[in-house]
Amino acid sequence: MIDNLFDGNQRFIEKDFKPHGEHYSKLAKGQSPKVLWIGCSDSRVPPERITCSRAGEIFVHRNIGNVVPNNDWNFATVLEYALQHLKVSDIVICGHGDCGAMKALDADNNDVYIPLWLNNARRAKQVVDAVDKPLSPQDRKRRIELENIRLQMEHLRNYPLVRRAEKEGKVSLHGLYYDPESGKLTKVI
Ligand SMILES: [Zn+2]
Repeated sequence: MIDNLFDGNQRFIEKDFKPHGEHYSKLAKGQSPKVLWIGCSDSRVPPERITCSRAGEIFVHRNIGNVVPNNDWNFATVLEYALQHLKVSDIVICGHGDCGAMKALDADNNDVYIPLWLNNARRAKQVVDAVDKPLSPQDRKRRIELENIRLQMEHLRNYPLVRRAEKEGKVSLHGLYYDPESGKLTKVI
């Protein structure tokens, strides 16, 4: 498998890096992305690919379930760097269809760390549990995925630096949903 990565890298150099030498030589000196993308680690939702963005345009944090934790230095340092140093103008939280994390949130299993991590998203399931009508399994799954985007947006606003930047009009927040069946990205919040 690792050979595929090196072969792919060679194709990247020939088909993208060399033909766009000016773009990449600028990037070699520094980055100034305008967007912080908080997405799921799922291999089907690569932000640059699904938005046809170029290298240097999106600052990325991905984890299981596109979670915004309030107790995680990894996430917090990415957020601080994006806002205070890169001065991104937009923050995206992107959820997606057929999300394995949201399925895990809605099922019992023997994993140790995944359920603990998903405590950061548990309220999304509870909101859907409280819906007062029968839901098809498909509808329930999608609702949890959408509720999770709303919940993580709340978590994001728990950070004083986000609230401040938003109040001062320096940053806009967007909750997006990617449908792996159609390839379509839509704004849900
Ligand atoms: Zn996912």
